Amino acid sequence: MNSNTALARIDLDAVRHNFAQAQALSPGSKIMAILKANAYGHGAIAVAQALEAAHAFGVAQLAEGVSLRGAGIKQPVCLLQGIQTERERRVAFEASLDLVVHAEHQIAILAGSPDSHRVWIKLDTGMGRLGFAPAQLKDVAHQLAKHRLLGVMTHLANADADADEGERTRTEAQIDRILNHNLLNKQLQISNLGNSAGIINYHQGPKDWIRPGIMLYGASPFHPPVPLEMLRPAMTFSAPVIAIKSVAAGASVGYGGIWTAAQDTQVAVLAVGYADGYPREVRPDTPVLTDAGKRAIIGRVSMDMISVRLNPGDRVQVGDRAVLWGEGLPIETIAESASTIPYRLMTGLGTRVQYEYHPLAA
Ligand SMILES: *Cc1c(COP(=O)(O)O)cnc(C)c1O
Repeated sequence: MNSNTALARIDLDAVRHNFAQAQALSPGSKIMAILKANAYGHGAIAVAQALEAAHAFGVAQLAEGVSLRGAGIKQPVCLLQGIQTERERRVAFEASLDLVVHAEHQIAILAGSPDSHRVWIKLDTGMGRLGFAPAQLKDVAHQLAKHRLLGVMTHLANADADADEGERTRTEAQIDRILNHNLLNKQLQISNLGNSAGIINYHQGPKDWIRPGIMLYGASPFHPPVPLEMLRPAMTFSAPVIAIKSVAAGASVGYGGIWTAAQDTQVAVLAVGYADGYPREVRPDTPVLTDAGKRAIIGRVSMDMISVRLNPGDRVQVGDRAVLWGEGLPIETIAESASTIPYRLMTGLGTRVQYEYHPLAA
């Protein structure tokens, strides 16, 4: 590793702890652990290997599913958006990937298929994005008769909002719609619902399957994001100090000179910037965790560097690392400061960031 590279340290024990918390909130449910977008930036293969207890995995894209199979992952792997073409269908079949079916063109492909696939039927119970209307279920199930139906899946649209009356009613109506759709046969009584917000906010009530994503990685799905005590952060993002500078009173730091020293100040320069996924939009005074404690960012975030104001007497040296988010500094704090969400920060790390796994991946 270069001495000036930002580092994402991934704590797989934390992932397992968070998985156990999801299971505890929904004791009877099977868990489809969501690994899309390279496990929210944590590394899909390492996370899948760490989650032996998961009953299945969910990914957004065919290539993600094929790559998990290439790594020897044995549990069911579900393509949450299904397949779009006959070629994709064949690749999915060869890799034994389960399919979500949410649209007519997918039914047409599957109706002509010589192979029998394992499929989840996606119902739109209020998200307004993918899925069939509950009233179409009978017809859809009929058209997919030669395939193995795993159950019905839906996605909650409002479970992450403040649980005020209106939002609660909307989410409960969605849950009602999937649990009380026209029950055709036993298989279609199997329900698959509940993202992290649904698992945490709506854990009462039967769900055969749940689909945690962000909570596995230790961050809050809510708005504004506030750290949840029951979760442990899986990613600690850090960067090395590459210079300590004395800035004289009246001098400015960084592009545009938006910060000027009121008195002589020691400044640590860290080798991390927006090219690594540190958000340029953070408010002034956003904290960074140094060996001396939390210290504020000053000036603009640039492509490869940020500057941090030290206090007199701080023992921070070139070569020390500072935490940008993770253990000791919640990702929620940084997300809030950048007017974004933890999802965006985790999935946005730059390609030059190095990864380190603890315990070491299998
Ligand atoms: C991303 C995703 C999830 C997980 O959502 P979180 O909010 O990260 O828990 C669950 N289901 C589907 C269909 C998804 O696309």
